[in-house]
Amino acid sequence: MQIALVGIGKIAVDQHVPAIAASPDWDLAATVSRQGTVAGVESFDDFTAMLDARPDIRVVSLCLPPVPRFDYAAEAIRARRHVMLEKPPGATLSECHDLEALAREMRVSLFATWHSREADKVEAARTWLADRRLRSLAITWKESVRRWHPGQAWIWEPGGLGVFDPGINALSILTRILPAPVHVTEAVLEIPENRQTPIGATLRFRHPDTTDVSAVFDWREEGAQTWMIEAETDGGTMRLLDGGARLEIDGTEVGDDHDAPLAGEYPRLYAAMARLVQSGGIDMDLSPMRHVADAFTLGRRVTVAPFLE
Ligand code: NAP
Repeated sequence: MQIALVGIGKIAVDQHVPAIAASPDWDLAATVSRQGTVAGVESFDDFTAMLDARPDIRVVSLCLPPVPRFDYAAEAIRARRHVMLEKPPGATLSECHDLEALAREMRVSLFATWHSREADKVEAARTWLADRRLRSLAITWKESVRRWHPGQAWIWEPGGLGVFDPGINALSILTRILPAPVHVTEAVLEIPENRQTPIGATLRFRHPDTTDVSAVFDWREEGAQTWMIEAETDGGTMRLLDGGARLEIDGTEVGDDHDAPLAGEYPRLYAAMARLVQSGGIDMDLSPMRHVADAFTLGRRVTVAPFLE
């Protein structure tokens, strides 16, 4: 199937272009970007012009930041294209619901992707937790914003999510691996005095078996980078490490699953999109975003030192 990639920025270049190139399902037929191009691929700097010029391209993958993404997604769906959305699927829950309704009306596929759910050990963690009783769970997501988002202004603007941009990856894993739902009960948002979005956040959740479920997100970590979920249960402890790439059960690392059909988060997402288009399905799980919205609703704001690039 032919696909167009829109927003040729960091994630498009790092992950989408190589994943599409390696996929047996997809052929990168066009790009849309104000400045970026991909060698050997027809490029457009206007989205409407691409949709008009290439009616043969039935699928569009949107790699823009969340705030500008809705207009592109709605236009693509109205033009009867199937749409794949980078995470988070929009700037607000309401616009995501609107997109889903539009996709149903226009009978096209719509996929809210959560790349971290495709990390190697997430499925094994989900299986391990499935029949155990949770006693506590702690998410620690600490990284350097300077290292991972150099010069990206949109992350500090309203709708850019701040530290919830990586934090929502942890929440996408949490909502996949826990058999029972949780909801946010408390949040503290640390917002630099010269910015609109948090640089740090702590969250507490209620779970049917325990209130000891928490998350710490911090963008000020210049040392070892930590993306970890630790769970204590009645049947042992689990540590999901490196953003879901590694798993320890009771301190012992779980080995590779050599039967895994595809390696890598983005190759798995594109394989899933191919299946969704073939089945005419819609996959719009908004639960990670719901927790972020709830944290912003309940969050106690604390002003912290200005963030200087
Ligand atoms: P980015 O490089 O800052 O932006 C991606 C592209 O979006 C830019 O090249 C730009 O394309 C376009 N764009 C930006 N603002 C726009 C606007 N107002 N109107 C129209 N186009 C605009 O961002 P990114 O890091 O790739 O992130 C994009 C999305 O992927 C985000 O939702 C992010 O959460 C997600 N993501 C990022 C990473 C990562 O490691 N960076 C990882 C996973 C997921 P042109 O200027 O060329 O038109």
